[in-house]
Amino acid sequence: MRKISVFGATGSIGQSTLDLIARAADDYHVVALTGGANIDQLAKDAIRFRAEVAVTCHDHLLPDLRDRLAGTGIEATAGDHAIDEAATRYADWTMSAIVGAAGLRPGLTALRHGGTLALANKESLVTAGPLLKSEAAGHGARILPVDSEHSAVFQALVGEDIGAVEKVTITASGGALRDWPIEKLASATVEQASTHPTWAMGQRITIDSASMFNKAMELIEAHEFFGLPSTKIDAIIHRESLVHALVGFRDGAIMAHLGASDMRHAIGYALHWPERLDLPVGRLDLARIGSLTFSEADPVRYPALRLARDVMEAGPLAGTVFNAAKEVALDAFIARRIGFTDMARVVETTLNKMFAQDGLAMDDIRLEDIIETDRIARVSAWEAVE
Ligand code: NAD
Ligand code: MG
Repeated sequence: MRKISVFGATGSIGQSTLDLIARAADDYHVVALTGGANIDQLAKDAIRFRAEVAVTCHDHLLPDLRDRLAGTGIEATAGDHAIDEAATRYADWTMSAIVGAAGLRPGLTALRHGGTLALANKESLVTAGPLLKSEAAGHGARILPVDSEHSAVFQALVGEDIGAVEKVTITASGGALRDWPIEKLASATVEQASTHPTWAMGQRITIDSASMFNKAMELIEAHEFFGLPSTKIDAIIHRESLVHALVGFRDGAIMAHLGASDMRHAIGYALHWPERLDLPVGRLDLARIGSLTFSEADPVRYPALRLARDVMEAGPLAGTVFNAAKEVALDAFIARRIGFTDMARVVETTLNKMFAQDGLAMDDIRLEDIIETDRIARVSAWEAVE
């Protein structure tokens, strides 16, 4: 029986992961499930999968969680420390699907104590790529990509030499506002930015898709995960979201990865890797689909992509600043304190301010450096919001 843990179990990726686990429940022993305010879902899943421990990140919800798990023998714990403690419990496979920078620490802890880390939390690689990779190498752990584009690249690279790669291209739907005139974007509301044309995801990542900050994060993520320079990584608009990524090689061949827009494919690939097993995702009927379209990602419409290039060239801690500023800008937009196009302004102002200081390109980065840079960047980003 494989021991597994799911961090961020109550979210969109977490629930898709549990859906796959439920289909072969006898093959798995669930160690830890973690969540946030949705105690109801967390408790239900903990009971359904007979987890060893259920953890909420909110301390004040512990009594409620305890009540719901009373008599089941399942441990209930709460708080960031409890999440980190849950990550010290050995699992063969751990899903990292907490949203935001909060996913970094438990992911690192799992790498130090476990086998494979399936990484959906893209913020981890963007804020701390080199640290994550060195911890994995130092502890004989493995990181597998779960973001659909990176899973697609990873699959296109099986049996290939990374040195033969000329260009990795990840696709973007263009997000909720892709057909809006550029002049109107400044007036887009939270609701308008929260409806994705092709993927069903959590609210934060859906807004990040509309602003293309999600794609910007993914460019940096690809840079970190595959160790490729920014010149070899690109994004392209592909409205249908059926081609997830393309890998071009030195001999002119391009390997494209196609599949339904269903995260259970990428999650399932990481769960069963290196095997391919049956997955309950739709099959593409290309004759019916008829055509696939591609177009350039307009750098004026999507300033986030330009900022991602600056970050890849500036060095690892620039990613920490980028992610922190982007999270603040997104919080401010959701709280209706800034407009849609102000998000890029806040991130750019914060990056410029921190680029002007030294140290963003330092080597041998420790978790403390990342936490401190993240903290300073958030203060600076809130100043840019005001
Ligand atoms: P979500 O908002 O649906 O779920 C987030 C989960 O994290 C929930 O379980 C929530 O309780 C938990 N959480 C939130 N804040 C927390 C905190 N401070 N501490 C501990 N736990 C916390 O998000 P999602 O869409 O499932 O995305 C999860 C991660 O996967 C994100 O990093 C996202 O960028 C990435 N991702 C998502 C998709 C997708 O299709 N949803 C695709 C690719 C990558
Ligand atoms: Mg993605």
